[in-house]
Amino acid sequence: MKRMVLGLLAIQLAACSDPVPESAIDEHIAEPANEPVEARLPIVRPATPEADLLRVEWMRIEHAGWETLAQQVEQPLQSVPVAGRERPGEMPALGIIIDDLGHNYSRGRRVIDLPAPVTLAILPHTAIAARLAKEASAAGRTVILHLPMQNGANLSPGPGALFADMNRETFTATLQGNLDDFGPLSGVNNHMGSLLTTLRPQMDWLMDELRERDLFFVDSRTSAQTQAAFAAQEHGVPHLPRDVFLDNELTPGALQNAFDRALAEARKNGVAVLIGHPHEQTLAFLEQVLPGLEQREGVRVVAMEELVGRNRR
Ligand SMILES: [Zn+2]
Repeated sequence: MKRMVLGLLAIQLAACSDPVPESAIDEHIAEPANEPVEARLPIVRPATPEADLLRVEWMRIEHAGWETLAQQVEQPLQSVPVAGRERPGEMPALGIIIDDLGHNYSRGRRVIDLPAPVTLAILPHTAIAARLAKEASAAGRTVILHLPMQNGANLSPGPGALFADMNRETFTATLQGNLDDFGPLSGVNNHMGSLLTTLRPQMDWLMDELRERDLFFVDSRTSAQTQAAFAAQEHGVPHLPRDVFLDNELTPGALQNAFDRALAEARKNGVAVLIGHPHEQTLAFLEQVLPGLEQREGVRVVAMEELVGRNRR
């Protein structure tokens, strides 16, 4: 029963999108019949406050371990290799990523238009992925693949997902299909993945491919047991972990608190990574807080590839 409810939640969320012109819907919509059902749902739906709340609930289930994890993130694990920290003399730098893009054009466009180099994390095989990536790139914004991975809550991660029971051949073919779906790409972060990121062999397969393609990795850290940083380090893939989730709660006070925590992390460590989602409240908050941030707070928002010490390909 729980699984059914979760499935319905995922299906409703996958269908949450505001109207887009027919021309914006590319061939990715024509999914084969054996794709998960949510991949074949109509994407033309109004964006509503209910949809935003539903997404928050979905995230809460997927990230059931967040509270414990948040405490650990306050004091990053000594054993996890972290690149790009500690740049004495430089203004503290904050990287901001908006996840789960690709279903909804107008919200994606608002991310591109934010008055700071915010990174777009776009889901593969979604209606607006190619168009958003192209427009973001033209505007000088960083685009990364938001790579769907198996989670521990049996939620469907959506089209292109990587699962623990895939053999290496299927795993790599699925990964390559995602990486080739749209571009240009500078890096990858994980969508869900509270199960898959804990599996070292699969993280090794992933990092092998990213090294090959000269892409960086941002670990969204949906599990405290994530192996991604260890695998990235071993394969020479530039990487950073997520420090703070911006919008676990959508009230103005909670958004401000999370943002302030990210600023504090940046001041403490030199850099910090903040991840949010395309909720109306999140976008409105960023539109309001980003102008003049550098002068006001002494923290600069920088593109993710700059944060991981790399240039766009
Ligand atoms: Zn996601």
